[in-house]
Amino acid sequence: MGIVVQKYGGSSVADAAGVKRVAQRIVNTRKQGHDVVVVVSAMGDTTDELIDLANEVTPLPPARELDMLLTAGERISMAVLAMAIQSLGHEARSFTGSQAGVITDAEHGKAKIIDVTPGRIEAAINEGAIAIVAGFQGVSQTTKDITTLGRGGSDTTAVALAVALKAEVCEIYSDVDGIFTADPRIEPRARKIPRISYEETLEMAAQGAKILHLRCVEYARRYDMPIHVRSSFSEKEGTWVVKAADVAADAHEGATMEAAIITGVAHDRSQAKITVVGVPDKPGEAAAIFRAVAEAQINIDMIVQNVSAAATGRTDISFTLPRGEGQTAMTALARLQDVVGYERLQYDDGVGKVSIVGAGMSSAPGISARFFEALSEAGVNIEMISTSEIRVSVVVAETQVQDAVNAAHAAFDLESDEIEAVVYGGTGR
Ligand code: ASP
Ligand code: MG
Repeated sequence: MGIVVQKYGGSSVADAAGVKRVAQRIVNTRKQGHDVVVVVSAMGDTTDELIDLANEVTPLPPARELDMLLTAGERISMAVLAMAIQSLGHEARSFTGSQAGVITDAEHGKAKIIDVTPGRIEAAINEGAIAIVAGFQGVSQTTKDITTLGRGGSDTTAVALAVALKAEVCEIYSDVDGIFTADPRIEPRARKIPRISYEETLEMAAQGAKILHLRCVEYARRYDMPIHVRSSFSEKEGTWVVKAADVAADAHEGATMEAAIITGVAHDRSQAKITVVGVPDKPGEAAAIFRAVAEAQINIDMIVQNVSAAATGRTDISFTLPRGEGQTAMTALARLQDVVGYERLQYDDGVGKVSIVGAGMSSAPGISARFFEALSEAGVNIEMISTSEIRVSVVVAETQVQDAVNAAHAAFDLESDEIEAVVYGGTGR
């Protein structure tokens, strides 16, 4: 039997009891004959607490030191987990990201993995030990400083290690049983998805579904590493994230429900909307606006430009962006008022985004119509629309997000007959 990489999130190892429970699970996998490599996140809310601590000391913690501080969270969990496994009579050895060979660029707080050289992990496995690796961290190739991969980055560590070790599967454990057709917290009749493609998972994650770290899915897709998302609190089979051809083959065998057109509904409450009112309708204006936003390092999502009013020759341009960047964007745009000659700016953070995702929609007509009808029947007003090959997203008032999710979920027959979704830990990670 081959190598299994297992990643346990913070909620799975929130306290000593959780650590012992996870240790037992790891040992069980080992007893089945697998070589096990474990990636672990910081215990419970440790990372948030460390960030709070840094902010109490200084409003702008230096990025290098903040990374050094945050990586301590995963050092704690990896060491206690190794102790717990040893107390069960199995050999276990913990490694920092740097010791495990996770080499990154030098971007503190959002470092990208450029190589994984897991020599010490391989050696530990060959000697019969279980290797425990600290998630979410690495070491910069150039500066040799310790880096972090961004919040939720342990998923990416796990997939990167699985690829480097040519593991059979990367199992990602959290406190829910898998990926659901909608967030069970706002849609109690959400259904567990047995298999989902990398592409759909990427769309769901990008549209706000808090399932997997986006970069981890991109990594898995690039190297075709199957991910099994499951709960550390139950023995249930979770959701397999695999390549599209494997999802199709599975549906064909009739192993799962008949191939659904819509795989899931995602929602996102972290966005805001800016409208630039009264932009002169002539070439170069949109370019100037979005150049200013780009130079402020802001990632925008949807853009809508109205038809210009014939009488005035002016138009409105709206776009969405992460709420946390709203102030920066408004400041950058305010500086442009004289150059662009727009009338005024409007900022609205009472918005949310609801998206339907499904590979089946690329070949099925009428999906948008069905979605919009469901929203109108629920009395939800659409403010903006955007689409991709396998997704339709709308921006609505934040107060209507739940209604919109419930309406879409029902309209595409995603509801399960019984309550399937159990959230064991309560934090979602
Ligand atoms: N502990 C880090 C965080 O909370 C990394 C992770 O959990 O994946 O973001
Ligand atoms: Mg965490």
